[in-house]
Amino acid sequence: MINSKRTELLARAMLIEELLRQEQSLNHILEESIERVHEVMELIFQNKGLDNLEEQFLQYILQFDDELAKELNTFFVQAIEKGLQAGTLQYLLITIAVLNKNRIPIKPFLVTQQRANERAVNAVVNRKIKGLNLSERIWMTSKKINQALSKIAIEGIQEGKHPVEVAKRMQRYVKAGKKTMVVEYPNMMERIGDMLPENLSYEALRLARTEMADAYGQAEKRTAEEAPFSKGIRWRLSNAGVACKVCIANAERVTDLGIGVYRAEELPDYPAHPNCLCDLQQVVEDIVQYARRVKEWTLNPKSQPDIELWFKTVYSAGR
Ligand SMILES: [Zn+2]
Repeated sequence: MINSKRTELLARAMLIEELLRQEQSLNHILEESIERVHEVMELIFQNKGLDNLEEQFLQYILQFDDELAKELNTFFVQAIEKGLQAGTLQYLLITIAVLNKNRIPIKPFLVTQQRANERAVNAVVNRKIKGLNLSERIWMTSKKINQALSKIAIEGIQEGKHPVEVAKRMQRYVKAGKKTMVVEYPNMMERIGDMLPENLSYEALRLARTEMADAYGQAEKRTAEEAPFSKGIRWRLSNAGVACKVCIANAERVTDLGIGVYRAEELPDYPAHPNCLCDLQQVVEDIVQYARRVKEWTLNPKSQPDIELWFKTVYSAGR
């Protein structure tokens, strides 16, 4: 029989793997952006069209906003989908194992979960934060990235630097952020520093992480409400070492369910803050016992009202 401890670890591993993938994927997206700006610089450099440099640039950059927004959209949707996958993993693994053990077809259950995840993606995509929905937030991000890179490009060309040299500056800025640039390129930063965000990739990563964590938290709550074997959700501190006061309080609060364990509707706001890497775990009934209860339910549905309710409202909806 499946081991419930292991299912907890799998969800956490999935989230951490996704965080690493996000970093790589975003680096790649930013490199592509630099490459596009670099190409514009080369064009302008070859044509020696230094008049109206900013105007020329802005025309090109406008086209890039679309391209970058599209790439970022894929990036964000993947983050959201991974959050949902991790947040439903325990529910899926345990339910499938128990259904299999009792020779009950799993397909209707999988159909309901697929639909629930599609609804969840839509909810996250349409959610407004400070008045902006996801595509508007992405649009702002892509504009911010392209504008910062253009500022460096225009400044570099005006200084008479070769485009290859300027592209290196952009890479440096993207990798190391504004602080490093102030040390390495003090003159340039004196002129345009105020117009550059502190750290582009960090800001975009933080947004993606927040979306992922939000989707993950929603999924954990939904599945805790749905699963007959779920007894609550445990708030587990990030093992990154530095947890904030709010997260520590959430993880250590004593409730009637145990330390840091909540009913879905009583779970404190998750994520508690941007970059919150705490995770949520279902506290579950012993799985062997749950499998036995499901078997009893197959013989006498009324003997297991919670499973009967689940079967009628969740499982049957997928048939
Ligand atoms: Zn936290």
